[in-house]
Amino acid sequence: MIKIVIISILLSATLLLGSCKSDGQSPPTEGQTNLVPASSMQGVKPTDFDPPASAPKAPHVDGNRAFQYTKEIVDFGSRPIGSENHKKVENYILGKLKGVTVDEDAFQAQTAAGSFPMRNIIAKFPGKKDGIIVIGSHYDTNLPLPKNFVGANDGASTSGLLLELADQLKHWNRDGYSVWLVWFDGEEATVKWTAEDSLYGSKHLAQKWQQDGTARKVKAFILLDMIGDKDLDILRDGNSTPWLLDVIYHAAEKLGYQSHFFQEQSAIEDDHLPFAKLGIPVADVIDLNYGYNNVFHHSVEDTMDKLSPQSLQIVGDTVLETLRMLDTR
Ligand code: ZN
Repeated sequence: MIKIVIISILLSATLLLGSCKSDGQSPPTEGQTNLVPASSMQGVKPTDFDPPASAPKAPHVDGNRAFQYTKEIVDFGSRPIGSENHKKVENYILGKLKGVTVDEDAFQAQTAAGSFPMRNIIAKFPGKKDGIIVIGSHYDTNLPLPKNFVGANDGASTSGLLLELADQLKHWNRDGYSVWLVWFDGEEATVKWTAEDSLYGSKHLAQKWQQDGTARKVKAFILLDMIGDKDLDILRDGNSTPWLLDVIYHAAEKLGYQSHFFQEQSAIEDDHLPFAKLGIPVADVIDLNYGYNNVFHHSVEDTMDKLSPQSLQIVGDTVLETLRMLDTR
């Protein structure tokens, strides 16, 4: 992860700038195929997604178990593409998904640093409504960083939380949409972040889903990134779909977690962009204020002691409540 393009900062402008780049440009909007117009929900209020009082409640995630999964991923060590640890983490994720329908999107990526095998892992939880809600995380660590970079927050926290979401989805009898969890590969740059040298896994899967028609069925794409920080402050991403962010905020509000959401605003380049370009409503749920001046981001200091089970639980529960709300439309 990640490049940010600052639109506006409501608080502490310098906190987010850090080592990240700001080029003042918006992501490309030309040549898009609006398979599912992101604007189709305009005029709809977040409260319109409130399920009836009689509707079953969403389950709660186990923050400690999500934290344990995160630790187990971190314990493999650095997991850049092409490494033995990367393969071990893939096998670890697949091992935790026994009994779940899993698709693997394996391909050879031509990167700025050479050719690498990559693999997106997709766990599918069928629903009764026609349509899919996707929740994503990346699991690779940055190739050029030192070999003792373990990406506890950057990649492991969300990959661990997705495993915990899988545990909940296995037992949640929902009448709503199918939910697909995606562990993306190759999110990180292999040399230096550019539009070309980044997001290899998500670009590959978005293209595949466009070709096979899956993209038309995706009602919402929610990306999680760097949300394990003890000091949880998720920013409002300017490259995400406003109505979907509003629904997420309303879900957080209902659970009493709204103070952790959207106090600051930026525009983030992340795994949601390839899906946004297909016209899919997207939301990047990301805390890019990790340590003072974002100093732990892409630092060997990105370790388990900076994370908390409670942050994982707050985000996980908000996602589950968001699913319940999206099911109403
Ligand atoms: Zn990163």
